[in-house]
Amino acid sequence: MPGQTDHANLFDDARSRLEAVFEALDVAADARERLMQPNLSLQVSVPVRMDDGSLKVFPGWRVQYNDTLGPAKGGIRFHPDVTQEEVTTLSFWMAVKCAVVDLPYGGGKGGVQVDPKSLSRLELERLARSYVRAIADVMGPDRDIPAPDVNTNATIMGWMADEFDHLARAKVPAAITGKPPALGGSLGRVAATGRGALHVLDLWAAREERRPEDIRVAIQGFGNAAYHFARLAHARGYRIVAVSDSKGAIYSEEGLDPDPIMAQKRRNQRLHDMVYCDDSVCIAEHVEKLERDDLLTLEVDVLTLAALENQIHDDNVDLVRARALLEIANGPVTSAADARLEKRGVPVLPDVLANTGGVIVSYYEWVQNRTGERWAEEEVNARLAERIERQSRLVLERAERESVSYRQAAYRQGIERIVDGILKRGNCQ
Ligand code: GLU
Repeated sequence: MPGQTDHANLFDDARSRLEAVFEALDVAADARERLMQPNLSLQVSVPVRMDDGSLKVFPGWRVQYNDTLGPAKGGIRFHPDVTQEEVTTLSFWMAVKCAVVDLPYGGGKGGVQVDPKSLSRLELERLARSYVRAIADVMGPDRDIPAPDVNTNATIMGWMADEFDHLARAKVPAAITGKPPALGGSLGRVAATGRGALHVLDLWAAREERRPEDIRVAIQGFGNAAYHFARLAHARGYRIVAVSDSKGAIYSEEGLDPDPIMAQKRRNQRLHDMVYCDDSVCIAEHVEKLERDDLLTLEVDVLTLAALENQIHDDNVDLVRARALLEIANGPVTSAADARLEKRGVPVLPDVLANTGGVIVSYYEWVQNRTGERWAEEEVNARLAERIERQSRLVLERAERESVSYRQAAYRQGIERIVDGILKRGNCQ
């Protein structure tokens, strides 16, 4: 499938979106120059002692795209297809999104080219620790703060935080976010990306004068962000009519219940092999199996993309029949496909706004770690709601005022803030 393994033009494609923003904002040449390249790009070897006694070395990267507004911030991805190009692009998107929601951060990202599913738990822990040893020189609460991303989670962040503490000979909880609460992780962090996306969808639906009950949603992907989005959206009254995993999709017009899906996924069941409805479980009474990518072309109100990059591209964009798109993954729509959707008048709630819930709560974790405070989950959720709604409203209103797409409006909001920072730092960069 194009996209999953093809990162060849990902960075050029992502950067190409800057042109229109630079023109619209009349950005000074110096600032344009600064934004075209990552600040720092570190390639490392990540050696791991395997359970059978052999040594395997995996390639890894940490890229800091821009640190004008604060330390670099962004997750670490473990995936067999990770490339330097992909990590660079993801770090660029982190820089944009942190600025869109007004966090005092730049953008960073890390990755290790590995299939984590092929490792034992102990091998995975050694990999996590080895990666931290490899990048520790560029990390720190005021330099670069990693977090979870695809195939990494709180458990892995816990191992990484412990390794960093050992290297620093001190407790430095603010050096990594997305940790388990026992190590200073924030309550509400695990569900934050999905919760944030729902706030953005709610705000859009309210502006369109649509009720959740009348909105049918399909979701590509069923990882952490997608599950929490689905769970919260279902509870709010949206009808989740389809979901997919990497092997297939399921559909039900009456609406799917995300919790029994997750319960079976935790037991490593694929969507196509689950029990849909019997005496003990009920995902929905009538469930139809679909090919994985058939989900992308369903006639629904909102197609939610929560898997990987480049899922909607030149070859399938004209088949998309959804009335709106919500991007929970980073970069799921190529810029060419984006332009076609815009021409057809299909609104896209863009990644750099819709998936910021995770990094917003990462910021709250960092603030708690630095002040020694611990906030109740309700407080974290309330602060998340307040920030993402305020910043989203600015984006949606700007799109209307300037007659541009939501993505263009979000980029203008983020890039404007970064450029302001670059210029305020003066001439000697
Ligand atoms: N990996 C998440 C993202 O792409 C979260 C990053 C963070 O919390 O720093 O936004």
